[in-house]
Amino acid sequence: MLEVKSLYVSYGGVQALTNVSVHVKEGEFVSLIGSNGAGKTTLLNSIMNIVGRQKGSALFQGKEVSKVSTADMVTRGVALVPEGRRVFSNMSVRENLEMGGFKRPVSEVKAKLAEVTEMFPVLGDRASQMAGMLSGGEQQMLAIGRALMSAPKILLMDEPSMGLAPLVIKEVYEKLKVLAESGLTILLVEQNASIALKYAQRGYVLENGRIIMQGKASELLGDNEVKRAYLGKE
Ligand code: ATP
Repeated sequence: MLEVKSLYVSYGGVQALTNVSVHVKEGEFVSLIGSNGAGKTTLLNSIMNIVGRQKGSALFQGKEVSKVSTADMVTRGVALVPEGRRVFSNMSVRENLEMGGFKRPVSEVKAKLAEVTEMFPVLGDRASQMAGMLSGGEQQMLAIGRALMSAPKILLMDEPSMGLAPLVIKEVYEKLKVLAESGLTILLVEQNASIALKYAQRGYVLENGRIIMQGKASELLGDNEVKRAYLGKE
């Protein structure tokens, strides 16, 4: 469904990504792990064409999309849940969700709202509250709900566990699991390697802007090098 080939991205003198190739098949849940500054956010922002690339291509559903605008990426079915959630704090929960559906016809937005609030009942319960009043976990649910409003085919998730307590992280991942089981394709990037690999089918390890390992998520979880560097145990 999504294929990134030999991607190179630099910020001035900083080479953030070097020869990165990643693919995600339809219906797959893929996690890419890496430590702080490895280039995870850069990869997702590059797929969305928020940051430009030096070299490399990106195919979505077989079509070259490396020159498509970010808004058109959303229309084509790619939605990003950004790092730090970035909800619109001074807008209500409902308005945040409506923003996610701004490219869709009004009738569809209504149906999507119903679907999203069924999936995340708390967003329905708190529809008229300011998003900034929600807890971190609820804001993460809202950020996911907002992305779902654009009826994506693939969800790009940037560090969903960031700043959340372990129980809340689990709740978020359980929701992602339900979404994946309903057929949504997911590409997720995380520092929290253990949970990201636990829920994924396949994984990649990004280090200093390069993919150094890839394989089945269960195999990566059992790999000694991954354990030593990312899971905090021998
Ligand atoms: P984090 O989890 O901390 O967000 P990351 O793996 O997502 O880390 P990136 O944010 O993609 O990493 O950053 C990759 C590299 O590019 C880092 O060295 C970072 O300092 C650098 N970088 C990121 N954004 C910019 C920018 N706008 N200008 C200059 N350098 C940048």
